[in-house]
Amino acid sequence: MRAVVTGAAGFIGYHVCQRLLRDGHEVVGVDNLETGQQRNVDDLTKLARFSFVQHNIIEPLDIDGAVDRVFNLACPASPVDFEPRAVFILRTCSEGVRHMLDLAFHKGARFMHASTSECYGDPHEHPQRETYYGHVNPIGPRSPYDEGKRFAEAMVMAHHRTHGTAVGIVRIFNTYGPRMRGNDGRILPNFIRQALHGEPLTVYGDGSQTRSFCYVDDLVEGIVRRPECDFVEPINLGNPIEVTVREVAEEVIELTGSRSRIEVRPLPGDDPRKRRPDITRAREKLGWEPTVPRRDGFLRTIEYFRSVEL
Ligand code: UDP
Repeated sequence: MRAVVTGAAGFIGYHVCQRLLRDGHEVVGVDNLETGQQRNVDDLTKLARFSFVQHNIIEPLDIDGAVDRVFNLACPASPVDFEPRAVFILRTCSEGVRHMLDLAFHKGARFMHASTSECYGDPHEHPQRETYYGHVNPIGPRSPYDEGKRFAEAMVMAHHRTHGTAVGIVRIFNTYGPRMRGNDGRILPNFIRQALHGEPLTVYGDGSQTRSFCYVDDLVEGIVRRPECDFVEPINLGNPIEVTVREVAEEVIELTGSRSRIEVRPLPGDDPRKRRPDITRAREKLGWEPTVPRRDGFLRTIEYFRSVEL
């Protein structure tokens, strides 16, 4: 099989490429390196059957030769990027998604779109099922990403209904693991970097807000299964075990053996109060559920951050 992976230099994109290559497939990685890491491209380029195209999907893209799968993972995904890259994110989720759908359509490829739990916003349904329409502030600080990703889902469904493009959507919940950027701004890179440097861990708000953290290898297993399933509509991929932000800080301090303390900072605007996926659909349609316990995943991620310069 020959796959195009957009966002190949990013955290999840890198792992999807690795996995597809390990499974014996040929991979064309696409990334404009806006938030992706050159290090990821360099390491992938050393592998057989991988090639890289530096390209911004806001512009149309043609790929020589056959393409069987398009994994569309391109988009900045850290809340710290939502404001400075607001227009870029909206364009990636609209024009960018359309261009990659066009590519899949012309090649007769199956299109796997990476959507997000952010479609649910600050949810009033808990845990979140795919049937929940969400509670999103359309003009708030997170809106470029939240509304962009919601628009992208509409675009994917429209392409499917209008042109018959073979599509499938996953809604990805908080994911962590090696190859996240040290300066990513999200909770795990921040807390681990702070703990390893003996700096205070910055808990936003009172730390009682919750998230549910999935180790990247578990997520990638769900992603590679997704296009092999004919079901079109969104499938949640995430770990249903929920934890507070303060508990995450305490666990990182314990697992790093750090003497850092916790420091409270203001809660960013529209920060969702709670988040946990209902993964019944993923179990039924993909036979998928996470297997890596948080403690193991955290330890592997800490080991990675120890090994790279932060
Ligand atoms: N958070 C925190 N300290 C940090 C980074 C994040 O307390 O240094 C909190 C953030 O306010 C949110 C949760 O951790 O409640 C997860 O944030 P992240 O940016 O990782 O992703 P989100 O789930 O909000 O998209």
